[in-house]
Amino acid sequence: MIKAIVGANWGDEGKGKVTDVFAQTSDIVIRYQGGNNAGHTIINDYGKFALHMLPSGIFNPNTLNVIGPGVALNIHALMKEISMVKERYPHPIRLVVSDRAQVVMSYHTLFDQLEEKRMGSSSFGSTKSGIAPFYSDKYAKLGFQVQELFHVPSVISKLDRVLPHKNALLEHLYETQPLSKEAILAEIEMLKQAIAPYVADTFTLLQEAVKEHKTILCEGQLGALRDPDYGIYPYSTSSSTLASYAPLGSGLMHGLDEVWAVTKAYSSAVGAGPFVAELEGEIAHELRQRGGDAGEYGATTGRPRSVGWFDAVATRYGCAIQNATHVVLTNIDVLSYLDQIPIITHYELEDGSVTSQFVATSALWNAKPVYTMVDGWKSDITCIEHYDDLPQKAKAYVDMLESLIQVPIAMVSNGPKRKQILKRL
Ligand code: GDP
Repeated sequence: MIKAIVGANWGDEGKGKVTDVFAQTSDIVIRYQGGNNAGHTIINDYGKFALHMLPSGIFNPNTLNVIGPGVALNIHALMKEISMVKERYPHPIRLVVSDRAQVVMSYHTLFDQLEEKRMGSSSFGSTKSGIAPFYSDKYAKLGFQVQELFHVPSVISKLDRVLPHKNALLEHLYETQPLSKEAILAEIEMLKQAIAPYVADTFTLLQEAVKEHKTILCEGQLGALRDPDYGIYPYSTSSSTLASYAPLGSGLMHGLDEVWAVTKAYSSAVGAGPFVAELEGEIAHELRQRGGDAGEYGATTGRPRSVGWFDAVATRYGCAIQNATHVVLTNIDVLSYLDQIPIITHYELEDGSVTSQFVATSALWNAKPVYTMVDGWKSDITCIEHYDDLPQKAKAYVDMLESLIQVPIAMVSNGPKRKQILKRL
């Protein structure tokens, strides 16, 4: 059984928790895209962990965790995270890193920071973790695969190609100091030593796993709407956030049996770009404070997230581009304070027309949400253990969302902890 867990929205949907729950019955969990530019929050018996590089199966001693070739591998961040996990988690860390994954260099982060500064108020809201410069280099054939680090002559000859590019930009566009070859060689040596114990031919390993019918989970990062092709470009990320990319970015090649898209019972987004659902003022403040396990603030950046009511237009599209077979609806407990709950069913576009279709980025800027209201349930649901025991009005809310997004909502999450998940189907 090969499953993917992906986001149906702008990210931060609660994928980390869902992956942690699913990982307990998975032989293998794979990260297949993105880097340390987003985080998953996992709360389990060992405490609360913000993971950025490690796959979420790391807290299951029986799960092998894989970082696939599609990932932007930040070795420094990975090592810090491994130490952080080891401090509180008593079991061995079972992790392998693809020899084909490419490495985020310190100059990628530097370029990201310099470019954000240069763009000023028109920046795309990068987390400044080097992701866009990293993927640019990968496709321009200026990147370093893990396996290359172990071959000094090819590192040196590639650096001779890389440095003139980087230094021309540093000196003439950003008007700052050029990079030194010695410093980068020293960095590469350090990265190589740190990653060596984890490097493996994960492609062959996964081919064997598929033949042996292992239970495999591909863990997506960020949300559908951050995909560079189908999302809100250019307020998107630099690798595909879609489940269809999982077979490639992981090295499984095999198609997915199930795609589980995670969506919140309301909307939240961090970073720049059009966000039709956006609320302001006191209403937004209250939802933001009540959201997630400690308010809606980015796990990586600490930035306050924009919040709004459930956006069925964006989520139906998000599920469609994920080719979702199942949906997990998280954070439903957060809405328990409301008498009436608004749901966005349509957008009104600049020309006055009303649509239920998600439109391209330029039309989103002036789109306005069209709401329908449903009754709230006004009671604490965080201790409920069976879906059937939810208040009737909470179930009616879930039924309504399901009919709007047109994918079965198979599970509902009623709190941040592992146990707080209700099977519906
Ligand atoms: P991810 O990037 O998709 O994994 O999402 P994050 O972990 O960044 O954000 C989700 C937030 O919601 C985290 O603070 C989680 O602890 C929290 N969370 C997940 N599921 C639930 C839930 O059902 N209820 C509440 N209240 N918080 C949840």
